[in-house]
Amino acid sequence: MSSIEELAAQARDAAEGSYSPYSEFRVGAVIVAADGSRYTGANVENAAFGSSMCAEATAIGQAVASGVRKIDTVAVACIDAVGNPGFPCGNCRQLMVEFGVETVIVDGPDGPVVYPLTALLPHSFGPEDL
Ligand code: ZN
Repeated sequence: MSSIEELAAQARDAAEGSYSPYSEFRVGAVIVAADGSRYTGANVENAAFGSSMCAEATAIGQAVASGVRKIDTVAVACIDAVGNPGFPCGNCRQLMVEFGVETVIVDGPDGPVVYPLTALLPHSFGPEDL
């Protein structure tokens, strides 16, 4: 199993921890920090929908709260997506820019696909723009 497939599998495992009673769309994410450490997250929904958190956001929050400031890779998997891969939302792509994510692995029905973050969020606004 390649590291890409391993990370996608870990993201699928993380999705099992999802709290998604409203969408029934379980999403998991794995963060690989620059030092190689990994952090997982799952989406956490709320009856006040705007208070819901994406899997990528919960994983990034856990990593940053643990002292991580540079993230190399994010792997994401939606185990309830039908026919299409579950790409990170725009807000999560912006969160990834903040911590220098280079690679995003998106799991899907045909297996995981690797994207540079610059392809998912071109012309982004980041810390270097201030
Ligand atoms: Zn998101």
